[in-house]
Amino acid sequence: MPTTVTPAEIAAAIRNVPDFPKPGIQFKDITPVLADARLFAGAINLLTERFTPGSVDAVVGIDARGFIFAAAAATKLKAGFVPVRKKGKLPYATIEQDYALEYGHATVAMHTDALKPGSRVLLIDDLLATGGTSAAAVALVQKLGGKILEAGFLIELKFLNGREKLAGIPVRSLITY
Ligand code: AMP
Repeated sequence: MPTTVTPAEIAAAIRNVPDFPKPGIQFKDITPVLADARLFAGAINLLTERFTPGSVDAVVGIDARGFIFAAAAATKLKAGFVPVRKKGKLPYATIEQDYALEYGHATVAMHTDALKPGSRVLLIDDLLATGGTSAAAVALVQKLGGKILEAGFLIELKFLNGREKLAGIPVRSLITY
């Protein structure tokens, strides 16, 4: 019988690191979850539980911790894995999307041939904060004609209202703060 893991057990393993990478930020360190085989597998089970293998064409993961969860979810769902990377990292032709940060802006990119039009996509990242990063990833998927079935996050910082930037996309998070 598969061992079931609850979101509360995963939450208990997440380490809060105050003032990283800068003062005032409470960093949610998910490496203890990854290092625990049962919790890591449980997190992947929870992130994929609404889908059956074959019902998703591609799991899109966001640079960099999103890759870890998205890649594992992709193999479980028998789907492909597609990376959304920070600008300048992908080797082939890309489409890009700018988004605002607290100070300044950032750009994410995806290969132009990463998704076929009409692809059914599960978008995954470790954490939803202001929603800027995942909204930019949504825009990239949509530019290539992908249809996002769900945006899934291990963690959501509700007080930052990131969901508002993902209007029209089903958003699911396992753990909220
Ligand atoms: P945002 O664009 O504001 O939603 O930020 C989400 C991205 O930044 C995700 O890829 C997270 O990995 C990272 N991130 C933002 N805030 C935190 C935090 N408090 N702890 C860990 N990662 C964070």
